[in-house]
Amino acid sequence: MVQLGFDNTYARALAGLYEPVQPAGFRAPELLTFNSALFVALGLPAVVEARAAEIFSGNLVPGDAQPLAMAYAGHQFGGFSPLLGDGRALLLGEVVDPRGERWDIHLKGSGRTVFSRGGDGLAPMGPVLREYLVSEAMYHLGVPTTRVLATVKTGETVYRDRPLPGAVLARVARSHLRVGTFELCASRGDVDGLRRLVAYALERHGPALADGDNPAMALLDAVAERQSRLVAAWMSLGFVHGVMNTDNFTISGETLDYGPCAFIDRYDPDAVFSSIDHGGRYAYSNQPGIAQWNLARFAETLLALIDDDTDRAIERAQGALERFAATYRERRLARLRDKLGLTGEAQGDPSLTDDLLAYMRATRRDFTGTFRALAESLRAGTPAFDDADFRAWEARWKARLGADDPRDAAARMDRVNPLYIPRNHQVERVLAAAVEGDMAPFREMMAVLEHPFDAQEGAEAYAEPAPDDAGRYVTFCGT
Ligand code: AMP
Ligand code: MG
Repeated sequence: MVQLGFDNTYARALAGLYEPVQPAGFRAPELLTFNSALFVALGLPAVVEARAAEIFSGNLVPGDAQPLAMAYAGHQFGGFSPLLGDGRALLLGEVVDPRGERWDIHLKGSGRTVFSRGGDGLAPMGPVLREYLVSEAMYHLGVPTTRVLATVKTGETVYRDRPLPGAVLARVARSHLRVGTFELCASRGDVDGLRRLVAYALERHGPALADGDNPAMALLDAVAERQSRLVAAWMSLGFVHGVMNTDNFTISGETLDYGPCAFIDRYDPDAVFSSIDHGGRYAYSNQPGIAQWNLARFAETLLALIDDDTDRAIERAQGALERFAATYRERRLARLRDKLGLTGEAQGDPSLTDDLLAYMRATRRDFTGTFRALAESLRAGTPAFDDADFRAWEARWKARLGADDPRDAAARMDRVNPLYIPRNHQVERVLAAAVEGDMAPFREMMAVLEHPFDAQEGAEAYAEPAPDDAGRYVTFCGT
């Protein structure tokens, strides 16, 4: 019997918040990608690598696994769905790595569950590889994120608008707890269940806070803190998550759900990629506000635990939301300062940074490329752009940099401004090849994205924005 060393706290502690499930299993599982670095970091037994295709397709369920579909609710595009749950995913089990950190190992695309409703429980190979590529890129960019340990082609066909090869991915996360988990508990009016859930969440994410006099408040503050860090990271890299529903909004502060996400090329605060986001609810520049909205939904679930007096509970929760906004603003500014090589703080920094963004918007500059061009301009001693507006802004920037050695500032900038991000047109190119059976372009691109800040020979094309005639990039949910 294969054992992975699972220790399944979710299954033990949170009865009522899941349904046991058996993976469907597939005809001819074949390993597509295996994340060796993550495998080593997790300290998993060698059998995991040797039998990855069987284990991560769900064909071979380890003896100590307790596969379960998590139950959760969620606000989707603002509307409340009282019961969502893992409709095509399952938690296989939890492992503790050699540093003592606990991780969920989760399969996505593993077949139907009681939460599947009309869905088939499956995932096509393209979106599975897309999640691998983009989440790994995010990890190497330093963004808190779920990761992918392996992807397995199932050998079976998935039917969308056309027949597609099916695949399963093995996702690793600090946990899959989300605001939607709390919303489910709260909508059942289950205060004891909520108390257990809060204790469980604190145990997994911030055990030091569990013994305080108000665990629910401590949890709310901790999640607000983590989400302010996360969204500031997204914004500083031009990342658009695309489906910030509360069922995709994590307690751990990790990026979860790589369905419709994309990186912006030209700087456009209104950028939207998702095919279904007609109102632009999850547009690039709306993300901080939506994070706060999601935190408000989270806070609502906790009110009864925060204070017996509802008015006082609301007041305290409101304080946490305000702290989120303030912390986000600070982090945003700090990241923009870093992106411009600025040390210390000066009063004019907010207008200096915002004026650059306004310039980039007006001139439709490539977001990622501009910051690298600015560093390059410091080294070369020639302006990044030649127009009068830029030259006026540049004079202010240089004055703010002061006597600092420009090469030092440029080096600092290159450590935070990536040269390579998963450019949408490149992502589509390598996925199309992979689905046709050629994994080489995918592997080449993944290798480049593992070192996003370092110029690599032969990788020039990965630093280029989409060609002008590329058209609008469209992404999809629930693919
Ligand atoms: P997502 O857009 O991936 O966050 O999914 C939203 C909800 O739809 C979740 O409850 C998913 O489990 C469910 N879902 C998405 N795709 C499928 C599918 N192919 N089969 C069953 N459930 C699905
Ligand atoms: Mg989801």
